[in-house]
Amino acid sequence: MSGQPTSRGIGMTSARTRERLIQRLGENGISNTAVLERIRSVPRHLFVDEALASRAYEDTALPIGQGQTISQPWVVALMTQAVLPPGNGGGVPPLGKVLEVGTGCGYQTAVLSPFARTVFTIERLAGLQRAARTRLNELGFGNIRYRHGDGFQGWPGQAPFDAILVAAAPADVPEALLEQLAPGGRLVIPVGPAGQQELLRVTRTPDGLQRELLSQVSFVPLVEGMG
Ligand code: SAH
Repeated sequence: MSGQPTSRGIGMTSARTRERLIQRLGENGISNTAVLERIRSVPRHLFVDEALASRAYEDTALPIGQGQTISQPWVVALMTQAVLPPGNGGGVPPLGKVLEVGTGCGYQTAVLSPFARTVFTIERLAGLQRAARTRLNELGFGNIRYRHGDGFQGWPGQAPFDAILVAAAPADVPEALLEQLAPGGRLVIPVGPAGQQELLRVTRTPDGLQRELLSQVSFVPLVEGMG
């Protein structure tokens, strides 16, 4: 679990603006109350530049440098909800190992953290990775492992994963990620070219891989190799 957020920028993040965001997510298909609670409690304003902190509780993506963005809260909530077992599985935490591709500023990582025993997160841009690690350490997150690498390859040494979340869009689902999915595991990934991406959930069932379309979405591209 997270430690206490620092007080930086707290004046700009009134309970009311956060409440409006939660209400909006609820109206737009986020039904899992544990996920909504998590979005309410993670201080998103600490994951963006101070100049953007006043916009942190709007339901939009925001720039985080190097041409990348912090994902829209609705997308983070949808992806988190989509990897959780039905009824949250009853376990504490509900998921064992979770792989995240595209750490970015670490916001999705922070939202995921209490739902997993361990979150393994990969980022190809070293600068973003370093900043995210420092921030998440300061906030007291202890169950996160970091890797500077290419998410197309997954993290073979830690596979299989109960859930895999990908925060950037490849043209097709990478084979390595499917191979690293545990039985019953769920992969949530945006696929397709800019402007025409679909968020998919792929579940490894006893009968094979089952694909579901969750939503039309807009992500930055998944880029091969390390930055
Ligand atoms: N969940 C993050 C989203 C960041 S945007 C957040 O809320 O901040 C997507 C991230 O994926 C970017 O930081 C980008 O550098 C990273 N990325 C793109 N291709 C990648 C790859 N092949 N491997 C690892 N990370 C990648």
